[in-house]
Amino acid sequence: MTEAQLNAFIEENFSERNLVIISNREPYVHKKTLAGIKTESPAGGLTSAMDNVLKAVGGTWIAWGSGSADRDTVDENDRVSVPEGDNAYILKRVWLNKGLVDNYYHGYSNQVLWPLCHTALNRIYFRRRYWEGYVRANFLFAEAALEEAHENSVIWIHDYHLCIAPKLIKEKRPDLTTIHFWHIPWPDWSVFRACPRHSQVLEGLLGNDIIGFQLPIFAANFMDCIENSIDATIDQDNLTITYRGHTTRLKAFPISIDFKNFETMSSSKRTERAMINLKRKLHLPPMIGIGVDRLEYTKGLMMRLQALNLFFEKYDSFRGIFSFVQLAVPTRLKEPYLSYKKGVEAMASGINSRYGTPDWQPIIYLDNKVDHKDLVAYYRMADIGIISSIYDGMNLVAKEFAASQVDEKGTLILSEMAGAAEELDGAILVNPYDTENFADSINIVLKMSEDERKNRMRVLRKQIIDNDIYKWILDILSEVASVSSVMLKECKDFFDSSAQLRKELSSKELFLFLDYDGTLAPIAETPETAVINDATREIINMLKGKYKVAIISGRQLEDIMNMVQINDIYYAGNHGSEIWSGDEMFLSQDFTDVRSRLKDILKRLENELTHIPGVLIEDKGITASVHYRKVWTKDHGELFSIFNNVTKGCEDIFRITSGKKVFEIRPVKAWNKGDAVRWIMKNYGEGTLPVYIGDDTTDEDAFKEIGDGGVSVSVGGNPESEYFVSTQAEVIDFLKFFLDL
Ligand code: UDP
Repeated sequence: MTEAQLNAFIEENFSERNLVIISNREPYVHKKTLAGIKTESPAGGLTSAMDNVLKAVGGTWIAWGSGSADRDTVDENDRVSVPEGDNAYILKRVWLNKGLVDNYYHGYSNQVLWPLCHTALNRIYFRRRYWEGYVRANFLFAEAALEEAHENSVIWIHDYHLCIAPKLIKEKRPDLTTIHFWHIPWPDWSVFRACPRHSQVLEGLLGNDIIGFQLPIFAANFMDCIENSIDATIDQDNLTITYRGHTTRLKAFPISIDFKNFETMSSSKRTERAMINLKRKLHLPPMIGIGVDRLEYTKGLMMRLQALNLFFEKYDSFRGIFSFVQLAVPTRLKEPYLSYKKGVEAMASGINSRYGTPDWQPIIYLDNKVDHKDLVAYYRMADIGIISSIYDGMNLVAKEFAASQVDEKGTLILSEMAGAAEELDGAILVNPYDTENFADSINIVLKMSEDERKNRMRVLRKQIIDNDIYKWILDILSEVASVSSVMLKECKDFFDSSAQLRKELSSKELFLFLDYDGTLAPIAETPETAVINDATREIINMLKGKYKVAIISGRQLEDIMNMVQINDIYYAGNHGSEIWSGDEMFLSQDFTDVRSRLKDILKRLENELTHIPGVLIEDKGITASVHYRKVWTKDHGELFSIFNNVTKGCEDIFRITSGKKVFEIRPVKAWNKGDAVRWIMKNYGEGTLPVYIGDDTTDEDAFKEIGDGGVSVSVGGNPESEYFVSTQAEVIDFLKFFLDL
């Protein structure tokens, strides 16, 4: 992929769209110096790639104005044209005072979300003012974006600093397409639940039309967190979440680098000269390793030094002929970073005093930031690059190291906890916590044959060539183009529409169809503990005097009638395959022909899932459910693969669907909830208008059946329904609405 190809795509698809980027950091910083105002240009690969996109199509970049001369260079609307002289696009600055920076940036962003998402829970520190500052700053970013957005704008939001902004933007301008790229990992629910204000964070992010993650596992983890804490409709197959009527799509887009640029810089004469100079200046021995990191606890620098210490102890023949150059750039300059810096420095000097000699140092520790054009010399001359993150969204250094290896002589040792390890083949993977194996891996790499090194490096480089930063941007913008052209179906807030509905419905005879689990009763750990409360039961008892009422459930008919305990209403069980009309039993079909097949499947599932605690297999005669609400998240992957394996090949007989922590197995010929509504309406509903409320994917058949011929309402929001109520707790108000009608 070339920059020119990308620009052609963008011009064709986005020249009319007005791209608005929001990030915490700005692409151009103006600083006061003795020689006047100085502009610092884009630093990282991502910033410069996004800068190129905006240079190609114009648009606006909204960011925190953090430079000492930033206020002096903007107009009355806080805007400045950048780059200077070229005036390709607008940089709009958001002003944050010191208190806000402390609370929003150093506080909630860096002391809560950052450690949380890197699973470093013991580093979380939360104050209420952090959250207040975070919300306030997000409001300012959102306001700035709304001021800049045109009709048809695409808002591209970056990272963990801006979780609330998407919701604020969508509430005011639902027509704008919003995409959020989450650069860091997303942990599973067992970790994320530790986050103070976690529901608000998730709700904020669900304002986005698309959320991009580095890896599919992070998208799956996000889904898991939603499933556990928000009453939303989840479509696991299409990776969409519908909440309060709005649908968000999740997708993985592994970020990359400008491969060509690194390769070109690394092959230059300048770099060749720089390598000679560095070897001389740093007194480098024949073999060297390189580490390039921000001085950040998630990068596992302590573990790396421990492994190097053990390596020099165990493999003493490398003393004097191998040195490890660590570039460690100080970052965030506050606690816990200051203590961490001291700890790392003490370890490095400990190793040097233990093994070093007057003319050789095992660890060459440099703590100044090096620009990419100079960094490539370090990368290129290294025999080993080491990355030891304890958790990392991607790790661009891994890709930069490979792109700079134009001689293909270096080998990458890569932590299996870094996103790059999931994406790339060719590196030697290590567990940073397994110090001895880590030390042994350094020895293995240093003794590796030239052939193997070259082969590994070629494989690595090829993957990055094919998936560079331009391809990343193209993939994201293609997704944006497809989402906005299809425009996901949305549904409306039932209570916001209640005045209109009151007018439309008050003169009508109604037939109320009520789903049970997740609608009349809150979702519970096990089916028998999901009970309807007395107040809801009482209202339904009153409603049945006014309207016709049916309970439609996936449970067995007998089970649902026992749970609800209300007489003189209609019941449909097993998703509609069994119907009780008050005086006669109607069983839709006879499924004895497939019953033995269903029993076989359940038996196999029982046998193969015994070792996974918490699985509940419910045989409901005609259909079956496999509940996994009580299964540990870490076991989900295995459970899904066993379930898929066992049910594979029976699609012609059974329809398999997934709901809220449950898989449903139903004969394809069995009636669904839509069929049940149709049959009941035909036989008992003449002259009435159907109103249906349900919360799960199996209710979609009923929403579709009702279509424009009635009122369909989802709990949490489902794009197939016309209206939504936000949570199960609001269902009682929904029922009262009909009582008062
Ligand atoms: N970097 C740099 N100079 C340095 C040290 C680091 O330019 O002296 C850059 C490095 O080249 C890479 C980025 O900082 O582009 C670090 O990105 P990575 O994804 O590895 O980790 P992050 O710091 O974003 O967590």
